[in-house]
Amino acid sequence: MNNYAARVLERLRRKYPNELEYLQSVQTWLEMIDPALDNYRYEKLDLLTRMVEPERMVTFLVPWVDDKGNAHTNHGYRVQFNSAIGPYKGGLRFHPSVNESVVKFLGFEQTYKNALTGLPIGGASGGADFDPRGRSDREIMRFCQSFMNALYRYIGADTDVPAGDIGVGAKEIGYLYGQYKRLLGKAESSALTGKGLTYGGSKVRLEAAGSGTVYFLARMVESKGDTLEGKTIAVSGFGNMSWGVCRKAAELGAKVVTLSGPDGYIWDPDGITTQEKLDFLLEMRANGSDRVSAYAREFGVEFFPGKKPWEVQTDIVIPCATQNELDVEDAICILANDVRYYVEGANMPATAGAMKLLRLSPKILTAGAKASGSGGVAVSALEMAQNSIRYNWTRAEVDDKLRQIMGSIYDASAAAAAQYGLGDDLIAGNDIAAFKKISEAMIAQGL
Ligand code: GLU
Repeated sequence: MNNYAARVLERLRRKYPNELEYLQSVQTWLEMIDPALDNYRYEKLDLLTRMVEPERMVTFLVPWVDDKGNAHTNHGYRVQFNSAIGPYKGGLRFHPSVNESVVKFLGFEQTYKNALTGLPIGGASGGADFDPRGRSDREIMRFCQSFMNALYRYIGADTDVPAGDIGVGAKEIGYLYGQYKRLLGKAESSALTGKGLTYGGSKVRLEAAGSGTVYFLARMVESKGDTLEGKTIAVSGFGNMSWGVCRKAAELGAKVVTLSGPDGYIWDPDGITTQEKLDFLLEMRANGSDRVSAYAREFGVEFFPGKKPWEVQTDIVIPCATQNELDVEDAICILANDVRYYVEGANMPATAGAMKLLRLSPKILTAGAKASGSGGVAVSALEMAQNSIRYNWTRAEVDDKLRQIMGSIYDASAAAAAQYGLGDDLIAGNDIAAFKKISEAMIAQGL
C-alpha cells in the first residue's frame, strides 16, 4: 500500500480502534485504489482523509412506548459521509447490530456505490439498534415517528435523502415520511425514497436492488461469451435483495435454488421461479419471524438447520444477507464447487480473507457490492428525479433506465480495470473509477 494511504489508515485505526467493520471497508478500499494513487496532489490536499471519514454524523436517542405501556430507548444514527457529487443519500437500517462502526462502513460503501450510477447523489447511511422482530404495526409506527422527530432537521430533498435497508421497508418509509411531512408542514416528497406508489414512490423500486444485481451479473456472464440461460444460483438471505434476485433471474432464464435465514438454509432444486414462491417470500418477510424454514414446510423442500447455502454446487453465488456473512471456509467451499461467478448483493458480505481468496482466484469472476449492489439506490435517484419533475415514468421506462445504469457501471469498472492492467478485476476497477470521479469533484470544489 502507498505510504500516504498507509498513514491515513493507521491514523484511523488509532482513532477508532473498535470500529472493525468501518476499518475493514476502508482498508479494502485503500488496497483496491492503490494502483491509481501515484498522484502526489492527493497527499498535498490530504484528500484520502476526507474521503474515508464522514463529513458529519449525528447520533440521537429514540424513546418510544410499546403496546403494554413500557418505555424503551434505542440509539439512532445518521452518517452524512460525502456530498461531493450530490446531496447525501443512503439507507436506514433497523437491526440490533447497528452501531457507529456499522453505519460508518455502510455510509462509506454507499458513497462509492452511488458515485458510478451517473446520478447526482452523495453518500450516507443511518439507522437504529431497534429490533423490529415481533413488534406490532403500532409499535413500529411509534418508533418511526420518534426516530423522525430527532432526524428531520438534518435531512431534506437537497440535503440528505434516506431510504430503506435491512428492517426498513415500504411500511417504515411510510411512517417516517408521514411524520416528516407533519413536522415540516409540507409535502417535500423527495426527502425520502422507497415511498409507496400512491404517494410519490417509483415503479420498480421494490425489486430494484435485486434486478440491478442480476443485470450486472448478466453483463459479466456475457463478457465471457456465456449466457444466464439455465444457470443455477445460490443466494443467501430472504429479504428484499434476495427476492429481487430470484425474480429477475427467473425472468432472464436462470434459477435461484437456495435462500437462507438466521435458522439455516433451504434448497429448492426446481428454483424459486414461480409467482407463488416469490409471493411467499414477501409474506415470510412481512410476518417478521425471520425464519426461512417456513419456505421448506410450504413447498416440501429440504431445510438445513444452522448451515450456510454455499455448500450447494451452483454456477453462480450471490450473497444477499449482511456484512461478513461469508468467511474463508465458505470461500474455499465456493472455489471447490467450481462456481464461475461471485456477485455481491449485500454490502461487504465477505470477510477480508474470503474476499482476497475469491478476487485473486483465476477460476471465478467477482463483482463487489459497490458495483453490483447499486440497483436499489440507482432507482432511488430515479425516484427523486420523478418527484422533482412531478411526473411518473412507466415500469418499462424505469426498468430500462436501471438496466442501462447497471451496464454503464459495468463498463466503467471494466474500463478502469483494463486501464490499470488489472485484467478481469471488476472490484478494483469499480473502486478506482468511483475514487477518480469523487476525488475530481472534491478537488474542483476546493477545501
Ligand atoms: N440501502 C440501500 C442501498 O444500499 C438503499 C439506499 C438508497 O436507496 O438510498 O442501496
